[in-house]
Amino acid sequence: DDMRVWLHRVADWVADYRETIEDRPIVPAVVPGEIAAQLPARLPDAAAPLETLFGELDRVLMPGIVHWGHPSFLGYFGSTSNGPALLAAIVAAALNVSAMTWRTSPTATELESVVLDWIREMTGLPEEMFGVVYDTASVAVVHALAAARERAVASAGGGSVRTHGVMPSGPAPLRVYASDQAHSSLDKAMIVLGLGEANVVRVASDAAFRLDVGALRAAIDADIADGHRPMAVVATVGTTSTASVDPVAAIAAVCREHDVWLHVDAAYGGALALLSEEHSVMDGVALADSVVINPHKWMFVPLDFSALYTPHRDALRRVFSLVPEYLRGDAAETTNATVDYMDYGVQLGRRFRALKAWMVFRAFGRAGVAARIREHVRLARTWATWVEHDDAFALAAPVRMAVVCFRCAPPGISNAGADRLNESIVEAVNASGDGYLTHTRLRGRVVMRVGIGNVLTTERHLAHVWSRVRAEAAARMARAPG
Ligand code: PLP
Repeated sequence: DDMRVWLHRVADWVADYRETIEDRPIVPAVVPGEIAAQLPARLPDAAAPLETLFGELDRVLMPGIVHWGHPSFLGYFGSTSNGPALLAAIVAAALNVSAMTWRTSPTATELESVVLDWIREMTGLPEEMFGVVYDTASVAVVHALAAARERAVASAGGGSVRTHGVMPSGPAPLRVYASDQAHSSLDKAMIVLGLGEANVVRVASDAAFRLDVGALRAAIDADIADGHRPMAVVATVGTTSTASVDPVAAIAAVCREHDVWLHVDAAYGGALALLSEEHSVMDGVALADSVVINPHKWMFVPLDFSALYTPHRDALRRVFSLVPEYLRGDAAETTNATVDYMDYGVQLGRRFRALKAWMVFRAFGRAGVAARIREHVRLARTWATWVEHDDAFALAAPVRMAVVCFRCAPPGISNAGADRLNESIVEAVNASGDGYLTHTRLRGRVVMRVGIGNVLTTERHLAHVWSRVRAEAAARMARAPG
């Protein structure tokens, strides 16, 4: 009965939070260590009443929260929090099942398969692609490259890395290629796999920040001449800084020629394919050996939910399937009729992530998901128009998705001066508490960046943040012209 009362109180707490989120400063005014200093260093012996804990939540913990769900939070790709997702999170917590095998929770496994099918179909991937949910794209690329490595080493006559490990005396160093705009998770994956970050070859991108296929060919040819062995190429659909899209079909042709694994990082940009007018964003992706799409970036599924697809289901399974005796009774995957997702990754215990995706997709409907994505693109274009109409600002990259990179560069200012100016505008807007954006570097120059992904963000919020950006820029230009 007590729990029921608390659930009602939490429901009110959550509803109040969502209702008032816009009135809160996005970034807290705390210094490092300030929150921890108010908490006991050692877990107290005595049980604390929930009343006390909720008091502490409001008094001690909430003051250190960055309100990612605030509609004027325009950092990274925005935030995917929303009502239906929140409800599903509560239910999933109540169930607390582990989706490691089909038998340990048939619904969790089957719903995962169904939701993966929906995402695959909505983003235009081929039906033959098998999917699996991981926490993040960073983890997905580790799994994809582990499968790629097993194939590359076996085909060079080097046996199995799964069985024998990475042998320093083994075949020539394995190399992976990606554009200078590709996400750093690739380098991390190479570190984790023992392949070395020095074996990531960064290929130049063109004026629109897309991988230059000629430069890719040249890099692969040079490596082969030097005795290296090309293992994989990572192409990106929606890069982190500018949301640019690599020419995947042309890259796939190069991969085929050299028998190299193609991993497509569509973590962010895959969602754009939900729009009928933007199906082409996934051109060539059907030729990939693995593809990652993150519904937690732009399909309204909160952290964390990352979907990896591959036509080589067995290749992934060969690297990761391992059934210890105590799990044999619960392992059911003897045919492709069912799936034990523990066989396709490092993790054994797996959260019931599919529930929140199911709840959001059904509650919004396919048209509703697409409409929200389309609106975010419209909002980004609106911001871009404001930038284009202000002489002190310029777009720094083409705008296709819900990301805008722009720079304040008034006439006469030096490059270094404009870098400092742009950094300080971002800092000032974020410190104000009622807007949040980030910066990035393009061709060595600092630019400001907004990303729109929150269902609560409207043109009014954008207009407010834009006026702050302009005001901070004007104040600085008045103080130190040039
Ligand atoms: N790929 C791209 C293009 C990204 O922008 C990011 C993160 O922003 C990642 C991969 C890594 O995503 P995750 O946080 O799911 O590991």
